[in-house]
Amino acid sequence: MPGRNHLFIPGPTNIPERIRRAMDVPLEDHRRADYPQTVLPLFEDLKTVFGTKDGKVFIFSASGTGGWEAAISNTLSPGDRVLNARFGHFSHLWGELCKRLGLDTHIEQVEWGYGVPLERYREILAADTAHTIKAVLVTHNETATGVTSSIPAVRAILDELKHPALLYVDGVSAIGCIKFQMDEWGVDLAVAGSQKGFMLPTGLGIVCASQKALNARHTAQLKRYYFDFEDMLKSNAAGWFPYTPAMTLIHGLRESVNMLLEEGLTNVYARHYRYAEATRRAVKAWGLPLCAKDPALYSDTVSTVVVPAGIDSNLVVNLAYERYNLSLGMGLADVAGKVFRIGHLGDLNELMLLGALSGVEMALQDAGVEVTLGSGVAAAQAWLRESHPARKAV
Ligand SMILES: *Cc1c(COP(=O)(O)O)cnc(C)c1O
Repeated sequence: MPGRNHLFIPGPTNIPERIRRAMDVPLEDHRRADYPQTVLPLFEDLKTVFGTKDGKVFIFSASGTGGWEAAISNTLSPGDRVLNARFGHFSHLWGELCKRLGLDTHIEQVEWGYGVPLERYREILAADTAHTIKAVLVTHNETATGVTSSIPAVRAILDELKHPALLYVDGVSAIGCIKFQMDEWGVDLAVAGSQKGFMLPTGLGIVCASQKALNARHTAQLKRYYFDFEDMLKSNAAGWFPYTPAMTLIHGLRESVNMLLEEGLTNVYARHYRYAEATRRAVKAWGLPLCAKDPALYSDTVSTVVVPAGIDSNLVVNLAYERYNLSLGMGLADVAGKVFRIGHLGDLNELMLLGALSGVEMALQDAGVEVTLGSGVAAAQAWLRESHPARKAV
């Protein structure tokens, strides 16, 4: 098929040309004398992306799931109590990981479309006067439902109750796209992956740990080897890794962080909001609901769209791909067949987004959903013009 695929899934995302070129380098010696000059400044700049001064960043050759495992296995012991909420496929899987690692995992069931259940978290933590709960888990941006939860609100509950549990945040589809402030929000472990906001190929699990989380490694009894913070800390301090790092991806990460910091993180967040809002206006014009139940929960990286009863959302996704070379996200787990997802994170621009929205309209019609062709595109166009940064300056 001529032309290029329109990749509008919420990760992997498009790789900017600059990052692709930065990775087009011959393989090199990872023990060469000047390698620390690449590694040490990168760790420092990554801290800016996580919003931390005191935290320690770890780069593992893994995907986001490996980052989860690193965060958990370095800080907890078998049988430790963990509080998690299941409100989408990713928050579900994180809880499953905890169970499989032998933690006493409390899963709060939440209707999909809502976020972290603050009142339930408060009740459960308030009842835990003996502080047996060691870990509180929150999926910042639930990529399955397009729901963003408030991390400061969870922090506020822990502070108010003076509960010492560590706060773990899955930021895989959030960090590098929407506001994330590790220190200000009192996050103890933050997890990111390379193939979403960092606009890289899959292959890096990036974890940031607070000093409190780092201290927890001294008592944490869960088994770990590949993901052991201790080995990383020892080597990283001087700019090395305890085993062969994914050097090609690390070149890409260097360029990715350059791009994010050159644009400025607040501009990056504003750009994600703008494209998300364009998408939401298109969805509204089609007359379709979002899976997210409340505007306060809307995700600026992915919109999950509910199709009318009797329509199979997989058909929409498949037709978009087969007929128009447009890749949309499938509905996952509990919402499979009922929703499809439009990823609007990373490297994209106005006209790419409008192209994708026009493809969605055609695929919806092809699948038997009554939408007016051009209606969503027009709504998005109006917003993109009205909110254009150049316009504000005039
Ligand atoms: C993609 C994603 C993950 C899983 O990451 P992998 O890189 O696929 O292992 C975890 N959490 C969230 C919120 C995600 O979007």
